[in-house]
Amino acid sequence: MTMDSDTGRLIRSEAYEPADEAPPAPARGRRPAAPDDETKVSPMMAQYIEIKAANPDSLLFYRMGDFYELFFEDAEIASRALGIVLTRRGKHGGADIPMCGVPVERSDDYLQRLIGLGHRVAVCEQTEDPAEAKKRGSKSVVRREVVRLVTPGTITEDRLLDPGRANVLLALARRRASDSAWTYGLAAVDISTGRFSLGEVEGPGLAAEIARLDPREIVMGEAIHQDPEIARLWRDTRAAVTPVGRGDVDPASAERAIKEQFGVQTLDGFGAFSRVEIAAAGAVLHYIARTQRGAKVTLSPPTRQAAGASLMIDAATRQNLELTRTLSGERAGSLLAAIDRTVGGAGARLLAERLAGPSTDLALIRRRHDAVAFLVSEGPLRAELRAELARAPDMARALTRIGLGRAGPRDLAALRDGLMAARGIATALASAGALPGEIGKAARILAGLDEGLADDLSAALADDLPLQRRDGGFVREGYRAELDESRTLQRDSRQVVAGLQSRYATETGCRTLRIKHNNLLGYFIEVPQAFGETLLKDPWRATFVHRQTMVDAMRFTSVELGELETKIANAAGRGLALELEVFESLSASVMAQSDAIVAAASALAALDVAASHAELAVELKWTRPVVDDGLAFRIEGGRHPVVEAALTKAGEAFIANACDLSGREAGQILLVTGPNMGGKSTFLRQNALIAVLAQMGAFVPAISAHLGLVDRLFSRVGAADDLARGHSTFMVEMVETAAILNQATRRSLVVLDEIGRGTATFDGLSIAWACLEHLHGTNGCRALFATHFHELTGLAQRLDRLSNATLKVTEWKGDVVFLHEVVPGAADRSYGLQVARLAGLPAPVIARAKALLAELEKGEGGSGRRKAPAELPLFAAMPAAPPPAPPPVETPDPVGRLLDGIDPDALSPREALDALYRLKAARAEG
Ligand code: ATP
Repeated sequence: MTMDSDTGRLIRSEAYEPADEAPPAPARGRRPAAPDDETKVSPMMAQYIEIKAANPDSLLFYRMGDFYELFFEDAEIASRALGIVLTRRGKHGGADIPMCGVPVERSDDYLQRLIGLGHRVAVCEQTEDPAEAKKRGSKSVVRREVVRLVTPGTITEDRLLDPGRANVLLALARRRASDSAWTYGLAAVDISTGRFSLGEVEGPGLAAEIARLDPREIVMGEAIHQDPEIARLWRDTRAAVTPVGRGDVDPASAERAIKEQFGVQTLDGFGAFSRVEIAAAGAVLHYIARTQRGAKVTLSPPTRQAAGASLMIDAATRQNLELTRTLSGERAGSLLAAIDRTVGGAGARLLAERLAGPSTDLALIRRRHDAVAFLVSEGPLRAELRAELARAPDMARALTRIGLGRAGPRDLAALRDGLMAARGIATALASAGALPGEIGKAARILAGLDEGLADDLSAALADDLPLQRRDGGFVREGYRAELDESRTLQRDSRQVVAGLQSRYATETGCRTLRIKHNNLLGYFIEVPQAFGETLLKDPWRATFVHRQTMVDAMRFTSVELGELETKIANAAGRGLALELEVFESLSASVMAQSDAIVAAASALAALDVAASHAELAVELKWTRPVVDDGLAFRIEGGRHPVVEAALTKAGEAFIANACDLSGREAGQILLVTGPNMGGKSTFLRQNALIAVLAQMGAFVPAISAHLGLVDRLFSRVGAADDLARGHSTFMVEMVETAAILNQATRRSLVVLDEIGRGTATFDGLSIAWACLEHLHGTNGCRALFATHFHELTGLAQRLDRLSNATLKVTEWKGDVVFLHEVVPGAADRSYGLQVARLAGLPAPVIARAKALLAELEKGEGGSGRRKAPAELPLFAAMPAAPPPAPPPVETPDPVGRLLDGIDPDALSPREALDALYRLKAARAEG
């Protein structure tokens, strides 16, 4: 440990790896030539090329009027990705310039799609009034600047975000822990809500930590990115991976960046962070600054995720247990989808976060259970809270947009409605008597909110709100006298226009004379063509000035109408300016209370989660688990939440099962044998899921559950190829099994399903056998082990903490009936043939398999051991398989075969003619 000279804080002394230079921009085909090219380029194109050169790795959205235009290769990429028309604009280097554009109004939709496809977008706006540019000279181009880089991890707009998923930007830094090992610092920021957490992890735990955080984007220095030891992480992740240059990962400037961000002289107030955590924090802040181009993101002070604070679940286990996503990547069908009864986005995000990282803090887990128990018993209060919570919009995300100056009137309304709901909830909780810790804390935060802000927002905002503030009309009538005056003036002016129209109609005698408005001409007087000729002559010539001749109408203006128009425009401009003033002042009031609002939003999310767990517990009769620091694992009447939900939907019942890994009456390792389709995998997983649910603070699908805290959860279920990673089924299985055997502690829970089935029988059996012995003797963990190697059941006699369980089945009229009931004992067979028959294997195959099985079983002679292949009767005493039936003789029908191969709808006229010739030729030959 050393003393930090700036802060006087104790910090661990660590050596840093040198950061590399910024990576070269990824090469992209054709690029626009530099402006000093031989070819002469227009000033606008020169400006475009300069800005594009500074942002080579992003698609450039170049603002032109109401459109963002893309040029050159960007246009080709975007037009393909978005399905929009590719056009041409002028020439560059002698060739046409490809161009496409998206309307600014709908740019969010297009951005969403491009970001979803992994692109980054540099948004380039006009940063001066075109009139200003004109003053500089007729050839001057309007000044433009990139105001923001939109990347997957830095988005803030609701339409680009998933309401129920945190949008995490993760930065990594590292230091050498030893010659062969690294310690990683992780800084995770959700810009959309301002959440900021720091932590560090030893190299082997990095993948699990990334899986827990589930980031949308990961930034790191080139050295980390290029490290072959961890390169597979970048291939495995769903996140965008962004290597950054030296400037972004410089540890020396990291502390300065944090101090600047939070306006503090020292970091002491935030807690003790290691150097590598600070380096990661610096990297994330630099990246945010680079992408937001000066717009200040409001972040909560960083919290520290202590090592071991959450149940460690590696990526393979998360996938196998389908915690937040199914194997195919869908949310539907996952545990998260099955348990989510939250009513708001912030609650849904917190639920997902707790599920992804169940706690290992006993006191915290119990506090969460207390809160759920309270809301289970207080039905009417729970209903009232949920109704209020459903009315509360996503305050945290709205607040971020307000802080960034990206908000619209509806964001202010979100604050208004959220604060009002908070008030309602505070009142409901105040009259609820004694509250448990978690809920009491939330109640105090909500009751402490300044009521004035909610009232002010309610008084200021109109009922119907436009999306954009520049559209105006969002300030309530009566809120600002000056604004009311200006609005009256606008309304009156319109009446004056109407009066002018009827006066002109009367004076000229043209009853169809109308005063109209369009964007090109502004206000104008329109009369039928024939009457227009009259107005061109005396005496009307002096009053009406001709503007336009249409096919059947003529358009005029007059001095009076022009003056009126200026008056109206001024009133409208003044009105909008006043509304924008109101917007700014309300935004400032909101930001002045941002800390309290963030705390209130978190309190509402925590209440939403507790109420969701309680709702589920009541709905599905889930119970409060007992979690302590022992090593018990005793579950009565346990169920699998997802399988049960599916069965209930289909009108079928789920059979509850007990599980005891407490190591007293039963063993600490349960070896589960039983028929295929009997329910072994379901049983294994349900027990793992119950541990996850209990430690995330939820009630569990069981009659009772007593669990000693689990530190790490491992699950290896089924065998899956990972060809993308270049691993075969068996290799994947062994890599994951190795991780389990090397890392599981006495506190861990291990679920192994059919280990060793991906190789030759004897290899697999020996591996499974040795793994069991290792888990029993070395790891000493609680484990569930399912297998079809029935030989392993004999181990229970030798290993004192191993016991056998099996899934009951019965046979009825030759069919196997699965009872899905777990009972002590070993299965004598797997009923594989019955299951194969149910699956539709052809009858002759089943009959042959039966004969082979009978011989094999005879051969084993009840000796309890498998024979070596040479001893097996397969190739010796076995009766030969009946010769296969000869394939049916095909009658040659060349015309018919040709016809079968023709799809008339897919043929061009020419191909149809060719086909006809071929048919005729075939008939002639045949
Ligand atoms: P295999 O050995 O072939 O992998 P298995 O023994 O692991 O099979 P599961 O995949 O767990 O069997 O279960 C098969 C099906 O049986 C499930 O999809 C489910 O529909 C049903 N099932 C499993 N457990 C139960 C249960 N406890 N109650 C009711 N149905 C169940």
